[in-house]
Amino acid sequence: MNLTNPLLDLHGDKLREECGVFGAINANDASALTALGLHALQHRGQEAAGITSYDGEEFHSLRGTGHVADNFSSAEALGVLPGNMASGHVRYSTTGGAGLRNVQPLYADLAAGGFAIAHNGNISNAQHLRDDLVRKGAIFQSTSDTEVIIHLVATSRYPTLLDRFVDALRMVEGAYSLTVMTKEGMIACRDPLGIRPLVMGRIGKTVVFASETVALDVVGAKFERQVDPGELIQVDHEGKTSSHRPFGEHKSRPCIFEHVYFSRPDSIFDGRSVYEARKAIGMQLAIENHVDCDLVVPVPDSGVPAAIGYAQQSGVPFELGIIRSHYVGRTFIQPSDSARQSSVKRKHNANRGLVEGKRIVLIDDSIVRGTTSMKIVEMMREAGATEVHFRVASPPTAHSCFYGVDTPERSKLLAARMELEPMREFIRADSLAFVSIDGLYRAVSEVERDSDQPKYCDACFTGEYPTSLTDHNEVDKPAQLPFPVNKVA
Ligand code: SF4
Repeated sequence: MNLTNPLLDLHGDKLREECGVFGAINANDASALTALGLHALQHRGQEAAGITSYDGEEFHSLRGTGHVADNFSSAEALGVLPGNMASGHVRYSTTGGAGLRNVQPLYADLAAGGFAIAHNGNISNAQHLRDDLVRKGAIFQSTSDTEVIIHLVATSRYPTLLDRFVDALRMVEGAYSLTVMTKEGMIACRDPLGIRPLVMGRIGKTVVFASETVALDVVGAKFERQVDPGELIQVDHEGKTSSHRPFGEHKSRPCIFEHVYFSRPDSIFDGRSVYEARKAIGMQLAIENHVDCDLVVPVPDSGVPAAIGYAQQSGVPFELGIIRSHYVGRTFIQPSDSARQSSVKRKHNANRGLVEGKRIVLIDDSIVRGTTSMKIVEMMREAGATEVHFRVASPPTAHSCFYGVDTPERSKLLAARMELEPMREFIRADSLAFVSIDGLYRAVSEVERDSDQPKYCDACFTGEYPTSLTDHNEVDKPAQLPFPVNKVA
């Protein structure tokens, strides 16, 4: 690796939330509202976007690769999506892969009528169910796990679409926050453990659903409540809602990584401001892992709230020692190697005048492969920092996520390969420390982790998955790694 070239695409070494969903019903401008809502959820998926609308007679769909603004900013685009009900989706691709056929919402004409579905999460027995359906004659249009739900609804023997949908969901395991449209209206639901988020709001008589509260803010909707784990909320075309809880009572296990990284800091997740939670994690990090230094420097942008918390707790000045350009767009065709290097440096650069001669503590939200962390440390040293300490606002990410988050396979996770001191050597920091799992819980929920009944899904830190993983049982076993797995400090 060429360490003299600070190739700092800081987002290339992050876990990536795979999807965001938004739905609106009883709205005069449902598709425009949905486009705006999706735009606020763009951070949850940037490879493709889609909107499906219903005009009282027909469903209309427009899906494309790229950002929401690339596909839905023109009157022409929204003009092909008429009607008072619409739902949309932004995605990264892992399960099912890229390609237009996997872009959601997925739509099918069922015997019981049109059915459009947008899904945030991942069905951990999708392959198993798919194999079974194919054996029985089903023909799949996409490779998305979400299409399995459509086939299960299509083949259910229950009389109503709602009952068929519930019947289908009883067969799937894993994480799902869904918005579904039928000609009767919209259904929003979360899996029984509520692993992925989903909230509900209103603008007058319009009911909206979104992955995060920030999308409600942006479209001018008033937050009403979260969709509860295991709850289905049905909304008719007059905006009348009814709640169904067909899965019985379960202890919820929302994803703790929403607080660490996925959600926007201006969202409220699980009743807590994400920004405040991240600051509290930074404070906890300072309490647990103090180091003498001159400056607290966030790895932008995701490390900023935790760095503010760390600085406030430790009394050390917070400074922007790494500057991120806000004007980086698509990759340019470069005339030469030197120009290519400078184009990479367009993204992030050391604030040399600030860090030169200083002892720096860098704050980041997580370490995934570790390659980016190593480049940042090197960049700080090249800019003249005398000491570079690294503090991480989450425990070591040592396990893959099977619930809709794009994680590298386990053998590529730094914390699955190494204990603490080898990790420090790998990223070449003077010291390295992570917030503890109990410290993380204390910061986001004010109580330590109850090991018998954890409040959150924290499987990527602990390896304790809250559901069965039918498709993946053989994948995440340590024996399959090409080297022994160490216990992480
Ligand atoms: Fe979230 Fe990690 Fe659980 Fe995945 S494994 S849902 S990223 S806490």
